Amino acid sequence: MTRHHIALIPGDGIGAEVLPPAQQVLDAVGARHGIDFTYATYDWSCERYLREGAMMPADGLGQLRDKDAILLGAVGYPGVPDHVSLWGLLIPIRRGFRQYVNLRPIRVFEGVDSPLRAAAPGGVDGGVEFVVVRENVEGEYSEIGGRLNRGTPEELAVQEAVFTRAGVTRVLDFAFGLAARRGGTLTSATKSNGIVHTLPFWDELVAERAAVHPGVAWDQEHIDALAAKFVLDPARFDVVVASNLFGDILSDLAAAVAGSIGIAPAANLNPERDFPSMFEPVHGSAPDIAGQGIANPLGAIWSAAMMLDHLGHPEAAKDVTDAIAAVLAKTDVRTPDLGGGATTSEFTGKLLDLL
Ligand code: ATP
Ligand code: MG
Repeated sequence: MTRHHIALIPGDGIGAEVLPPAQQVLDAVGARHGIDFTYATYDWSCERYLREGAMMPADGLGQLRDKDAILLGAVGYPGVPDHVSLWGLLIPIRRGFRQYVNLRPIRVFEGVDSPLRAAAPGGVDGGVEFVVVRENVEGEYSEIGGRLNRGTPEELAVQEAVFTRAGVTRVLDFAFGLAARRGGTLTSATKSNGIVHTLPFWDELVAERAAVHPGVAWDQEHIDALAAKFVLDPARFDVVVASNLFGDILSDLAAAVAGSIGIAPAANLNPERDFPSMFEPVHGSAPDIAGQGIANPLGAIWSAAMMLDHLGHPEAAKDVTDAIAAVLAKTDVRTPDLGGGATTSEFTGKLLDLL
């Protein structure tokens, strides 16, 4: 029996509605594969921020440190600016635990009405399955910069992007390594024609790391063209590596074209495993549907599958993604975002039957 101690942060809105299904799936698949999960739940959220003035306690990272992994629902609340949840919780965890890889798999499942399928009937089934590797701790999301001459005609804002040799190299090595394990190719997102310092540096490092991973075929695309190809020719991609901002945009785009943002998972990985990694659905707290019991739990469940994989249980992870594929392909039970009429718990129950 393998034991894992998991930190659960349900967060706000539907975050608290999609984590219990993920937990049920973990317990069910764990029982079959000899994995025993124990959980510690933290109420860190925008609602806590409104109550106590902080998303999480000052020693928050210290409380998570000894956990094997973190499963997060979603954070965000009407009236609380996004930067509060971002800088008060997500970014401190990502940076503090050196989760420098944000991994976002994309798959067009049979039985899901993807806009891609409408655009290319018959052309996408089984063919669209790729992964975006996003740099997660540096790049464009920096606190360096400022504003001058507020309110005057000379007002200006400056925002610095920081790309370090060490930071870019480690995420590229992860991406090349992943492409090698998948037996696939690597595409690097760039814009070195318009951005004249950071992205030429990124391109040079890609070429440098490519020489260290000679078995992996690779290419690069400007971000504008790449975004278009995600829609027009998604089957051509396998592993796509991108900076923090580009990766953020590409992975939301890809999640949307795959059919519903409610399905897409993400992993914030600490590849060295000296700190816990964090797994979370791509979607937010969805205040428009929160409290109705109709949130799609698949993003959280797939995130739990990525967690299983990271914890060294690839067969258990595959059981979960197979059950996701099965519930979508073989049944018409699904939540309203996928065109069905089922509740979160009915959908989860059906998936558990198939697991
Ligand atoms: P946040 O500020 O927390 O990021 P948001 O409104 O910006 O919230 P999402 O929460 O991702 O972004 O919601 C975007 C849209 O997608 C909303 O209409 C929401 O209802 C829908 N949506 C998001 N996640 C799900 C889900 N799991 N199931 C069903 N619909 C979802
Ligand atoms: Mg949002």
